Amino acid sequence: VSFGYRDVDADEKAGMVRSVFSSVAAKYDLMNDAMSGGAHRLWKDQFVRRVKPQAGEAILDMAGGTGDIAFRLARHGAQVTVADINPDMLGVGQERATKRGIDGLAWSEQNAEQLTFADRRFDAYTIAFGIRNVTHIDKALAEAHRVLRFGGRFFCLEFSSTTWPGFSEVYDAYSHHAVPQLGKMLAGDAESYRYLIESIRRFPPMPEFERMIRAAGFAQTKVEPILGGLVAIHSGWKI
Ligand code: SAM
Repeated sequence: VSFGYRDVDADEKAGMVRSVFSSVAAKYDLMNDAMSGGAHRLWKDQFVRRVKPQAGEAILDMAGGTGDIAFRLARHGAQVTVADINPDMLGVGQERATKRGIDGLAWSEQNAEQLTFADRRFDAYTIAFGIRNVTHIDKALAEAHRVLRFGGRFFCLEFSSTTWPGFSEVYDAYSHHAVPQLGKMLAGDAESYRYLIESIRRFPPMPEFERMIRAAGFAQTKVEPILGGLVAIHSGWKI
């Protein structure tokens, strides 16, 4: 597995991902706003509009972290399970939920590659800015397919590569210089943010990721690029 600035094996990658998110958990929400100029809120709103959560349905928000997607889904009355590999991120999420008076969410420590949920347990599976951190993406996709009922839907929000001419150069310069600096200034941690940017650069391009989703068994797959593909919404159905 290539970690960007050096090669590491799969176990080591999982360990590094764990320590990155433990390190950023407390400042995670502040950093999202700082780095995206608040835009991540709009992307998440758009994502949840596409998911079209229904009252009473069971939704698994994988790599749910501090709850941004889960809170939006729960607003529509969905029964949301927030699952994440990192207990520190889940802890911050639970505190935020309490502060906002949001209850009824289930919180669960899970590795996306090997879920403990029964087959066909969920109506929808969401994963936002999570899948690029998973060591074996194919395993996570297979698990997503397994835990969905027939007729269930898969939705993924993730950074990708913008195809807009000029924009990608500006973005590269921003992400490689400004983001680690912001990480250092606001969170005292440049290295974790360097990893996060590297993981974006390494993530497969939109058509390739869509192929992986199809290979996991999903049908009617779709990609919706945002800002030319800087961010993308991938979706598919289990039929
Ligand atoms: N979905 C949230 C959001 O959009 O704000 C959090 C996204 S955060 C960038 C990525 C999350 O993925 C972290 O909370 C991290 O712990 C989690 N993660 C990384 N690898 C994972 C894995 N193998 N299984 C489950 N969660 C994982």
